Amino acid sequence: MTDLVVIGGTVVTAAGSFQADVGVTEGRISAIGPDLPREAGTEIIDATGLLVLPGCVDVHTHTRLPIVPEPDRFYQDSVAAAFGGTTTFLAFNNPGTGISEGGSRSLLAGLREFQARTEGESAVDFGLSAVISSLQDDPVAELPKLIADGVPTAKAFMVYDYRLTDERLFAALQAMSRHGGMLQVHCENATVIDALTAEALAHGNVGCRHHALSRPTYAEAEATHRAIALARAADAPVYIVHLSCADALAEVVTAKARGWPVYAETCPHYLTLTDERYAASDEAEVIKSVVSPPLRSDADRQALWMGLAHGGLDLVATDHVPDRLAVEKRVPAAPFPEISNGAPGIETLLPVVYSEGVAKGGITVERMVDLLATTPARMFGLPMKGAIHIGSDADLVLFNPSASRTLRQADLHHTSDFTPYEGMSVSGAVQTVLLRGQPVVQAGLFVGSRGAGRFLDRSVAERLPPGDKVHIAHE
Ligand SMILES: [Zn+2]
Repeated sequence: MTDLVVIGGTVVTAAGSFQADVGVTEGRISAIGPDLPREAGTEIIDATGLLVLPGCVDVHTHTRLPIVPEPDRFYQDSVAAAFGGTTTFLAFNNPGTGISEGGSRSLLAGLREFQARTEGESAVDFGLSAVISSLQDDPVAELPKLIADGVPTAKAFMVYDYRLTDERLFAALQAMSRHGGMLQVHCENATVIDALTAEALAHGNVGCRHHALSRPTYAEAEATHRAIALARAADAPVYIVHLSCADALAEVVTAKARGWPVYAETCPHYLTLTDERYAASDEAEVIKSVVSPPLRSDADRQALWMGLAHGGLDLVATDHVPDRLAVEKRVPAAPFPEISNGAPGIETLLPVVYSEGVAKGGITVERMVDLLATTPARMFGLPMKGAIHIGSDADLVLFNPSASRTLRQADLHHTSDFTPYEGMSVSGAVQTVLLRGQPVVQAGLFVGSRGAGRFLDRSVAERLPPGDKVHIAHE
């Protein structure tokens, strides 16, 4: 018995688009085809004139854990994700997200704490991607158990005080690879950035814009090259997070052309905003764009769209950081090295990429589905997610391509108090969102529930039945 049929829409998959109904039984897609039979009692959702997309999978967020004075932050950002058409997100539990000191000293303690503190909180499905840092006693020794416990990806940093040395980065890459996982790496050259930062401070250049000036594209490109070389030596796949510029992209493109398992994501802000934002005279404006890597030139921005269109980049994720102008990004600001890095984006992924990419003709709608849903699900071990296939979870977004709206903080639901996209006109609008067949957003209203989202135990290849293997990164 079919519980629900979405009728009359244009189903979009990474491989093509077609008119079809989508039937849902017990939360999974059970039929796709024209004029599906409707039994008495089957709920009907009319998607005439709408695109039927798989729910987006955002693999890069820094959502906050609930804390006593702010108990709703994890929940509220999960609601924001739903409004944006994201039905699955992965969160990092790095220091600053509310994780305890004990939880940041051990990967396994960090996983257990994350699960306990997010239990019953999320409105959409979610998972953890761990963070390997120099604050941990022996992260490499914990990796096999972490991967076996359902977290096959983790991020390491080449900058910040908790960065890994090249030696430890190599060991982490090797250990991840040997146990079927994949390391995500934040690539920036710490020596260059530290030197330029010290020089700026010595000249009294403490303003927000100097954050960007001390993080040049060559520092990112060099670190990207080095991470790829270390991965080669470790015989490991490597995943470059938040790639922001043409020079770093060239490193990834070269590696891919050689057939190496090198993957990269970029973020909506690098695709739409530029370093012009640092020219604003008002520090309160500039501080909103203090992100690492910083916003780049328009030529870089255009190169990233080419990378998405032609395969140099594998996916788009948000790097959502729910910073607030009233708290973390207050002005007058501290000297730039002390300013919190990051900006919100969990709610604006699909609206921004659809409008700036598909509507403006840079990528096809099928490629967008691949970049926002299908590839992230496949690469991060989520076989039930990211595609409209029989047997997949019925995570569906009904998207109106003819609508238009203006993005405004006042209309968003995230726990930040600003959006980098304030005032941006976008084509298209999310209309209805289903999570495993249950409505979460309908007619502009949240109709889901706190705790309906499940923690997703992501599986490594060996743990899946034969014939249903998920390749974490080697395809
Ligand atoms: Zn990040």
